[in-house]
Amino acid sequence: MSFTSLSLKGVTRRFGGKDALTDLSLTIDHGEFIALLGPSGCGKSTALNCLAGLLPLSGGSIWQDDRRLDTLPPERRGFGMVFQSYALFPHLTVRNNIAFGLRMRRVPRAEVRRRTDEAIRLVRLEEHAGKLPGQLSGGQQQRVAIARAVVLEPSLVLMDEPLSNLDAKLRLEMRTEIRRLHQSLGLTTVYVTHDQEEALSLADRLVVLRAGRVEQIGTPAELHDTPATAHVADFMGYRNLLPMKVSAPGTVEGSGLSLPTKSTLPAGSDVMVAVRPEDLVVAPGGVPVTVEVVEYQGREVAVEARTLAGVPVHLRTADRPAPGDQVTVAADPDRVLVFPA
Ligand code: ADP
Ligand code: MG
Repeated sequence: MSFTSLSLKGVTRRFGGKDALTDLSLTIDHGEFIALLGPSGCGKSTALNCLAGLLPLSGGSIWQDDRRLDTLPPERRGFGMVFQSYALFPHLTVRNNIAFGLRMRRVPRAEVRRRTDEAIRLVRLEEHAGKLPGQLSGGQQQRVAIARAVVLEPSLVLMDEPLSNLDAKLRLEMRTEIRRLHQSLGLTTVYVTHDQEEALSLADRLVVLRAGRVEQIGTPAELHDTPATAHVADFMGYRNLLPMKVSAPGTVEGSGLSLPTKSTLPAGSDVMVAVRPEDLVVAPGGVPVTVEVVEYQGREVAVEARTLAGVPVHLRTADRPAPGDQVTVAADPDRVLVFPA
């Protein structure tokens, strides 16, 4: 069933009096790729399972346009699911695993054949259609699981950490595959991951969760450039997260650093300052730090240094400093983000 938008309104789920998910509100447009991102235990699977109908809600509601969904059993929502464990039938061939759901729905035999062939082709398993899951690699099994979900032409595809059992290289390949399928089939996808890079590369919008609550919803660029909290900044690769104090309007000091900022918090405020390694640059007249570890990263090196207060900081530079060198660092005030502590 097609739809224009799918809305979660104040979705809450408790386990034994403890909130696993609190007040999640989100509207997903048809065709969007949404990632739910956050550390283990933050409520991602709970949110996905509430959406799928595998978990009843403790509060709130879910709507597909003006049709209420959260009171419907999973099979009546028309969603496809792909889990971390592939959950394939071991005794059925690839083809029969993919065809299974269509047969359950009593789709005519010729159409089962046509749609199954199409799905096998989409996930590039033509040469393996007659094999059993046990004869396939992890990545191929995951493709079967994806084909099995998309062959039903679901209005929404839900994926819970589908790549976390694969090795790094395969994870990258399958990531591209998933994005390609999403686009070519015009799917709407909700994808759960704890991997920020995966979420940023796949999603049109990310929902960052922490302890069951939404910290921020936004496009990759919005989260990257203007994280709403120090926690989101941490997830977005702001490796320098330092407790400091606003010493004067437009200046933060502490942890052995003094940096300019556009923040308008009043002098005396205790703050958490976030700066990405690439925005902490080696510059004359900056704050002195001592280089400790230099890691080769192609055109640049990643440097771990220590401030005079003994606090580790991370920076990147095209120079080639050596451990023990003293360099001075500075940052553009636009890129020094300040959060109330
Ligand atoms: P994530 O998928 O982000 O790792 P989950 O949604 O699985 O997190 O879990 C969120 C919180 O809810 C955790 O504290 C977890 O222990 C708790 N939780 C999840 N499922 C259950 C359950 N069936 N019974 C009790 N507590 C649960
Ligand atoms: Mg989970």
